[in-house]
Amino acid sequence: MRAYLDYNATTPVDPAVLDAMLPYLGENFGNAGSVHSAGQRARAAVDDARESVAALLSAKPSEIVFTSGGTEADNLAICGTIAAAAQPRKHIVTTAVEHHAVLQTCEAFIGEGVDKGIEKGTDVTVIPVDSTGVVDPEAIRRALRPETALISVMLANNECGAIQPIEEIGRIAAEAKIRFHCDAVQAAGKIPVDARRLGADLLSISAHKIYGPKGVGALYVRSSTPLVPLFRGGHAERDRRPGTENVPGIVGLGKAAELARLRLAEDAARIAPLRDRLESALLERIPGVRVNGDTARRVPNTSNLTFPGAGGEALLISLDLQGIACSTGAACSSGSTEPSHVLLALGLSHDAARSSLRFSLGRQTTPEEIDYAIAVVPGVAERIRALSPRAPQSTAPVGAR
Ligand code: PLP
Repeated sequence: MRAYLDYNATTPVDPAVLDAMLPYLGENFGNAGSVHSAGQRARAAVDDARESVAALLSAKPSEIVFTSGGTEADNLAICGTIAAAAQPRKHIVTTAVEHHAVLQTCEAFIGEGVDKGIEKGTDVTVIPVDSTGVVDPEAIRRALRPETALISVMLANNECGAIQPIEEIGRIAAEAKIRFHCDAVQAAGKIPVDARRLGADLLSISAHKIYGPKGVGALYVRSSTPLVPLFRGGHAERDRRPGTENVPGIVGLGKAAELARLRLAEDAARIAPLRDRLESALLERIPGVRVNGDTARRVPNTSNLTFPGAGGEALLISLDLQGIACSTGAACSSGSTEPSHVLLALGLSHDAARSSLRFSLGRQTTPEEIDYAIAVVPGVAERIRALSPRAPQSTAPVGAR
């Protein structure tokens, strides 16, 4: 038996997405920039995909820029806005729980001189979150300065699933006339994402998180939002993203976006009870387990749990040996495992952050997989704890949150 519970890392390509893509890897191989009919077939497919992505985000097709994924969309939004800002506007406001594609891109602007093509000299304010992973919009408002060029806040967190008060932040940005970028990579397909309603000027999504292929994504750019492209070399994507279009990938993203829009409510209604069943069973059966993040305002598929006294890496590896795939939010940097910056931002200690696992469910998750995880995880956690020198001697109240 196997249980893949790592859909926030990536999702399998939906069979309908693969079917839609295959002709564009085969007979319809044309370059969407070519004038002949092979090129025109590719162009028509890209245009259809653009409409479908726009429909998912309640946007206009002309507001969609295809990219190589969520990371590029985030980079384009941040670097493109800073480069387009009038000179004195040299300040970014973001949060402590952003994905590294946002945080590290913002941080690259701090300091002086030029590094890796980035002209430094922009200040960055990183706003903390509360213990549930949620940012206070008023803290964002207070951080704004006359020279603030950009606010970047994610819609749903990839590690704990917490949903940020984006509409409020969007209103604050609009009042202050500051550009607002929202990373919606983990929200798309899980909760409704209406770019205009959220008040975003820029919004990122990624195909491989919504049952599309890897290496393709999109940035919503609200009409007449100034943006300097990351790349040079042609006029594709209305001069915002030069390069020959990844036609099969874009077609895949288009189909994935269509399915996400049609299946959103049904997927959420089926997945949330499975997630809740897994979570409550683990809370009940494993002493001391705690849930990380806002349980009330959370995407329907994610559960992040701390198993005090059991190392996350050891848990992960032991579960993998039993066929269960999940994740730690840890990042490997210079050969050492850093605890998740998101869990630290929620106030967890390094030990607790290192003893946490994320389970993320998806469209193909079955009740049998959940039964299997419920049967296996408690025993594995107990074994790892028994082997750990830091294992708690007394057990905390059963089911404590
Ligand atoms: N933003 C968030 C919130 C993510 O979870 C991810 C991927 O994990 C990304 C951005 C990066 O997307 P991609 O893998 O398409 O580069």
